[in-house]
Amino acid sequence: MKRIAILGSTGSIGTQALNVIRRHRDLFEVEVLCAGSNADLLVRQAMEFRPNAVVIADKGKYNIVSDALASTDIKVFAGEESMVDLMEMPSIDLVLAAIVGFAGLRPTLRAIESGKSIALANKETMVVAGAIVTAAAARHRVPILPVDSEHSAIFQCLIGEGSPIDKILLTASGGPFRGMTRDQLATVTLDQALHHPNWSMGRKVTIDSASLMNKGLEVIEAKWLFGVEADDIEVLVHPQSVVHSMVQFRDGSVKAQLGVPTMETPIQLAFSFPDRIESHLPRLDFAQYPALTFERPDRTTFRCLDLAYQAIRRGGNIPCVMNAANEVAVQRFIDGEIGFLDIADCVERAMQDARFIPNPSIDDLLLTDKTIRNQ
Ligand code: NDP
Repeated sequence: MKRIAILGSTGSIGTQALNVIRRHRDLFEVEVLCAGSNADLLVRQAMEFRPNAVVIADKGKYNIVSDALASTDIKVFAGEESMVDLMEMPSIDLVLAAIVGFAGLRPTLRAIESGKSIALANKETMVVAGAIVTAAAARHRVPILPVDSEHSAIFQCLIGEGSPIDKILLTASGGPFRGMTRDQLATVTLDQALHHPNWSMGRKVTIDSASLMNKGLEVIEAKWLFGVEADDIEVLVHPQSVVHSMVQFRDGSVKAQLGVPTMETPIQLAFSFPDRIESHLPRLDFAQYPALTFERPDRTTFRCLDLAYQAIRRGGNIPCVMNAANEVAVQRFIDGEIGFLDIADCVERAMQDARFIPNPSIDDLLLTDKTIRNQ
């Protein structure tokens, strides 16, 4: 029985992870649930899965959660510090990092420092602090199992491979705006941006998919997870989202991992690894996909991808700068305050103006994040 803590249980990844656990109660048990502010859903999840403890990051919601769970023996905590501290609980075997954004960094890092295996969905943690996170994982001998479908695919392609690789071929759906010109992008609406052709995800990652920033974040995530240079990661637009990513080896062979587009498969594999366990999800029917197509991304129109390559080449705190600016810009786009194209402009300006710190500590990154958000 693997005892799992879920950071971000009320989100898209968190709820899909609970679907996986619901189907495999003989293998997985929920030990801790952590949410941001959705008290009602957190309470419902707690009543169903009966974890040892729950945390609501929004302290103003503590009473709602603790009143609703008063008749149970579930411990209730509030605030981000409690969430970070709870990651030390000896009864946790594995932590699913599925908070969105920079907020996921500290609890994930504490979990690593406490020796917990990590199932990593929160890509921003790797983008912002990849050097620190991977060093901590090596020091504490903690496996980081990718949940992002592309990284799960690469991870699976690399199983049993010892030789250095040629390159990673990171696939991208292209999002809802694939093929559009800059003029067309200037007037797109939030509703259009949220209408992803293949995936149903949280708002922030859906907007990132539309701008291709998501792919930029994934390039940086892949660099740290697999120890390759960003220039050895090639992005390929594959609108069917069936080939989840590929690895090309030195002899020219290419391995790919395929499957129907659902996050429950990579979540389940991260939970069950090194085993593969039964899944009732639909199987890939190749006859439904007579053509699997690939094309190069339009990097002139979708500038966020190149900004991410620039950020990782410059290194230091610049990926943290990029991420903070992007989180704020995406939120402002969601709030209707800026246009879609302003997201890339905002990120670029922040990267140009930021003070460069070559080897940032965690405190440097916390300060960088705060400063950029304020600016
Ligand atoms: P959602 O927006 O659906 O969910 C985010 C979760 O994080 C919610 O549980 C939310 O709580 C919680 N949260 C937000 N802010 C805080 C905070 N300050 N403290 C504690 N909890 C917080 O996001 P997704 O599930 O879509 O994405 C989660 C991560 O996984 C992202 O990094 C994303 O890039 C990555 N990912 C997602 C995929 C997907 O298919 N959704 C695919 C691959 C990667 P609440 O709702 O209660 O406020």
